Amino acid sequence: MVDHITHSDVLIVGAGSAGSVLAERLSADPARRVTVVEAGPGPGEPGVRELTHNGLQLPIGGASPLARRYPTRLTDDPQRGAEIVRGVTVGGSGAVNGGYFCRALPADFEGPAVPGWSWLDVQPHYRAIETDLDFPDRADGGPISIRRTSEFVGSTAAFVDAVRAADLRWLPDLNAEPVGENAPPGIGAVPLNIVDGVRSGPGAAFLEPAANRPNLTVLPRTRVLRVRMSAGRAVGVDTLGPTGLVTLTADRVVLSAGAIGSAQLLMLSGIGPAAALRAAGISVVADLPVGQRTWDHPEWVLATTWAVAPQRPVLEVVLVAEGVEIRPYTGGFIAMVGDGTLGRPDWPHLGVALMSPRAHGRVALLSADPAVPPLIEHRYDSEPGDVAALRRGCDLAAEILSTTTKLGEPMWSTSQHLCGSAPMGADGDEHAVVDPRCRVRGVENLWVVDGSVLPRITGRGPHATIAMIGHRAAEFVA
Ligand SMILES: Cc1cc2nc3c(=O)[nH]c(=O)nc-3n(C[C@H](O)[C@H](O)[C@H](O)COP(=O)(O)OP(=O)(O)OC[C@H]3O[C@@H](n4cnc5c(N)ncnc54)[C@H](O)[C@@H]3O)c2cc1C
Repeated sequence: MVDHITHSDVLIVGAGSAGSVLAERLSADPARRVTVVEAGPGPGEPGVRELTHNGLQLPIGGASPLARRYPTRLTDDPQRGAEIVRGVTVGGSGAVNGGYFCRALPADFEGPAVPGWSWLDVQPHYRAIETDLDFPDRADGGPISIRRTSEFVGSTAAFVDAVRAADLRWLPDLNAEPVGENAPPGIGAVPLNIVDGVRSGPGAAFLEPAANRPNLTVLPRTRVLRVRMSAGRAVGVDTLGPTGLVTLTADRVVLSAGAIGSAQLLMLSGIGPAAALRAAGISVVADLPVGQRTWDHPEWVLATTWAVAPQRPVLEVVLVAEGVEIRPYTGGFIAMVGDGTLGRPDWPHLGVALMSPRAHGRVALLSADPAVPPLIEHRYDSEPGDVAALRRGCDLAAEILSTTTKLGEPMWSTSQHLCGSAPMGADGDEHAVVDPRCRVRGVENLWVVDGSVLPRITGRGPHATIAMIGHRAAEFVA
């Protein structure tokens, strides 16, 4: 820990999945002074590393010091409330998540193309962050080790057997382009950043090994309250940490506080929808559509009659078919988060997640007080086509499992993949908050580098892509 940090070349807000990779990359140049401000505890604090390393549980239970919960509304008709969770520690949500670490699909980088982000452009960055222990040619020996489960037990084995009995194919590599033998429909093993039970996300694999660099300072338990602006330029941040209120200045400020945190900080700093900012008493610096078009993977979960398979990653295989991922979870949700199951029913669930939803939600500022969480609405039921696709996915699962497993009624849930609150876009894109180099439009010296910048949700879980964005954006900030 450093007592006085007056000025950095680059100040990164949030040591999460993207921020950890970005901080390591930028501090690789010893001449660049990099400071990372992180709201949660550091990995050296008692018990933290044990929780983040244990890849067989998600440390997000009620008593976890590493999780922050936000209320959300999943659907409007009828209104269904839920909680979404974000990891709050070095490594961010990637330090507490399920370990599914799969690249996006080529189609995710097509559509309205963002210059510099074609499928070909991003390949070297996916490759650089990983070592693939099953397909060594697929990656370049980066710090995050990937392995797939090859021997299945319990619910996973039951599901794989049922899918194969239904004549659906085995997909050898979900990280490969979805053509030929890897073309869905089919079932495949999830690439996991959990090896021998140990989770190794961007915090553990990128930031922690770099933390001793003399030009890199990580400030845990320090919350950024807002970005300091001067004549349309970001000049630093106001923080609240162990020594009270401190202002840190920097030549370049990067928000990597996640889809909720970065959107809230932008709006608290005067960057967002002008009318909403004025209503909250905030002076407008840039009128931009922050938080207006967020994305997530809606998920319906169904109880099963499977037995819990203890000591396994939470999800080892997925069936990819008809626009959904069908996910046989290995444990019940209560055991999964380490809250204890004594006296409470807790079965492995089947999840049916819509991977290219049309419905988008929003994150909106409720108050100029940074302690008041923003309003989050998923609006999952706003597109009838999405609801119909989820129903078709459930029907498919029921058909495949009809003779082996009894399924409960589907319940609305979320995959916890919220993203897209400050989307990236080319010139003229009305939804864009940042340009293709992650710079906030109309503001000098301010970048956003995290899941907020995804213009659409990826066709696979977003974690590997968000870590890739941290790697890709390092050259833009440098
Ligand atoms: C429980 C759970 C399970 C998931 N499982 C999977 C999965 O298996 N596969 C998958 O692909 N995706 C999964 N995800 C989603 C994935 O983990 C996230 O999308 C990804 O980690 C987000 O990365 P990020 O860099 O955008 O933000 P984060 O990793 O959330 O990082 C943001 C960081 O900023 C810090 N921060 C926020 N506000 C401030 C502030 N004001 N001041 C200072 N610091 C601040 C936070 O403490 C955090 O460390 C899961 C998410 C959760 C919550």
